[in-house]
Amino acid sequence: MKLIDGKQTAAQIRSELKLRTASFEQRYGKKVGLAVVLIGNDPASQVYVRNKITACQETGIRSFAHYLPETVTEQETLSLIRSLAEDDNIHGILVQLPLPEHLNADKILSTIPAAKDVDGFLAENIGKLALSEEGTVACTPLGVMELLKRYQISLCGKRAVVLGRSNIVGRPMALLLLNEDATVTVCHSKTQNLKEECLRADILVAAIGKAKFVTNDMIKTGAVVIDVGINRTDDGKICGDVDFENVKEKCSYITPVPGGVGPMTIAMLLTNVVQAAEKAQCRNIY
Ligand code: NDP
Repeated sequence: MKLIDGKQTAAQIRSELKLRTASFEQRYGKKVGLAVVLIGNDPASQVYVRNKITACQETGIRSFAHYLPETVTEQETLSLIRSLAEDDNIHGILVQLPLPEHLNADKILSTIPAAKDVDGFLAENIGKLALSEEGTVACTPLGVMELLKRYQISLCGKRAVVLGRSNIVGRPMALLLLNEDATVTVCHSKTQNLKEECLRADILVAAIGKAKFVTNDMIKTGAVVIDVGINRTDDGKICGDVDFENVKEKCSYITPVPGGVGPMTIAMLLTNVVQAAEKAQCRNIY
């Protein structure tokens, strides 16, 4: 069994991005910029936003943080997003979810221009992915693809099984694997004979949010197992959707939790921001 080290890969990606942001600044006389909008006081969201801003600083990306109170109106939020959309110093806009209940998240997110949608959540970007066209892809599934690529795990003709069909992980994950010529099955809470589906997988991606759900008897010998899940156990530890100790000897490759897919999510967000900035400059030139 080989361990897929997401922490080390993410560090490598950040150091590559640092070169790209420096060259962008030298060439265009300004920094790559990301606007982060946080509404309310959700403690987990505050931690995520802090981590994203720190990662930006380490990579040479200028972050513009906007902290809005829980009581902000939809109009105020929309007018902020519109002003960020028009600002040439801002190449990506990230609205931290979840939003307070009185705000319509779909309406607010759809105000972000597709070119600045660095989360890849907009219908336009998801549509492009579905059509196998170039667009911005959601960071977590993109991070999984980057790990598979950097570990030279081939996908063409392989049987891939994705557990979970959420808009931010499972669905885009399945489309990405399909676009790389894997034969893809998507499983969800209504899937029958889930174990049999998993046993057919050359590549199994677990993204259901159920601690240690995937066990030894669900894995084909030699399978590649990617664990997207982040769950908290009763003793306060973080664990994935895969029972790592129980399955590891049966796999050819496996991602740990923590230290697998998790660190790749922010690394791919930074990648999407740098890419958006480079594309924006190219559009200005031509
Ligand atoms: P959601 O809750 O949005 O989706 C969960 C999916 O799993 C749904 O499609 C659901 O099916 C399916 N599911 C739930 N229970 C079962 C089951 N018993 N058998 C089969 N399928 C099941 O979660 P997310 O996609 O947002 O996240 C999934 C996991 O990934 C979570 O642990 C989350 O914390 C983690 N995550 C990790 C990230 C990272 O950076 N590493 C980033 C984002 C998420 P149905 O559609 O039928 O309800």
